[in-house]
Amino acid sequence: MINVCDINVMKPLLAEHGFHFSKAKGQNFLIAPWVPQSIAEEAGVDDTAGVLEIGPGIGPLTQQLCLRANKVCAVELDNRLKPILDRTVGEFDNLEIIWNDVLKLDVPALVKEKFGGLRPMACANLPYYITSPILSALLEAECFDSVTVMVQKEVAQRIAAQPGSADYSAFTVFCQYYAEPELLFDVPAHCFLPQPKVTSAVIQLKVRKERTWDILDQDIFFRTVKASFAMRRKKLSNGLASGFPELGKSGAAEVIAAAGFPENVRGETLSIPEFARIANEIVKYKQR
Ligand code: SAM
Repeated sequence: MINVCDINVMKPLLAEHGFHFSKAKGQNFLIAPWVPQSIAEEAGVDDTAGVLEIGPGIGPLTQQLCLRANKVCAVELDNRLKPILDRTVGEFDNLEIIWNDVLKLDVPALVKEKFGGLRPMACANLPYYITSPILSALLEAECFDSVTVMVQKEVAQRIAAQPGSADYSAFTVFCQYYAEPELLFDVPAHCFLPQPKVTSAVIQLKVRKERTWDILDQDIFFRTVKASFAMRRKKLSNGLASGFPELGKSGAAEVIAAAGFPENVRGETLSIPEFARIANEIVKYKQR
């Protein structure tokens, strides 16, 4: 197996194929072998797993996934990488490469078609320019056991943030609604070529099998969350009145009281079950 993380192997390989990194495609390739090994190991990839990888690049993580998983499907946008991947991962018969934009795929259909009978997982060193849309698609697909990804460290901190902290955001609530996050390890910029300007981190999202809170209407729940964070450090009633014009100020105050919160409560301090209580009161208010 070619050690694609060895810079003395990688550089001539790229040069041989006239490959130049594309900043626009988020191409920062791993040059530290411990990183893809640790991602595959800590993700818990084994021979019961069907793994969807996004953005194999020249294949360092793909190799580690193929060594452990039953099946790997890797989705890559840049078909200039084809002859290089033929060399670096062509030997694996449990690998299928899909040459497409991951955001254009029907992820649940793909998982059903490719990973029948297997434990579906997603694993990736993500292209950072589309971290949020990719993570949203992977979580909303509701078909993975876990999603283990490398992202910018500040994004990882945002995903794992606690209510009331500076990093807590609507994206935190979105991710934690679908999954339980665990920060695994940091990856310094010198582990990549070219080096990104930021530190990276690997985070695992264990997808919830059940949600322990009642939500009457998922759309209203996410609208409530969005409205609550739209006006940080302001009273929640202002955010709700602006996100739900149909409530007005008095309706917003009414639902907050009905959900059992003081009138000066701040949205950014609420947990998911607390957002659910408010969203459910909004549903009831609208049904009156
Ligand atoms: N996995 C490799 C590694 O760790 O060295 C490459 C990771 S690099 C950060 C991101 C990869 O995602 C690149 O290969 C890039 O071409 C690919 N990519 C970018 N946008 C994509 C998209 N929309 N769909 C699929 N792959 C994409």
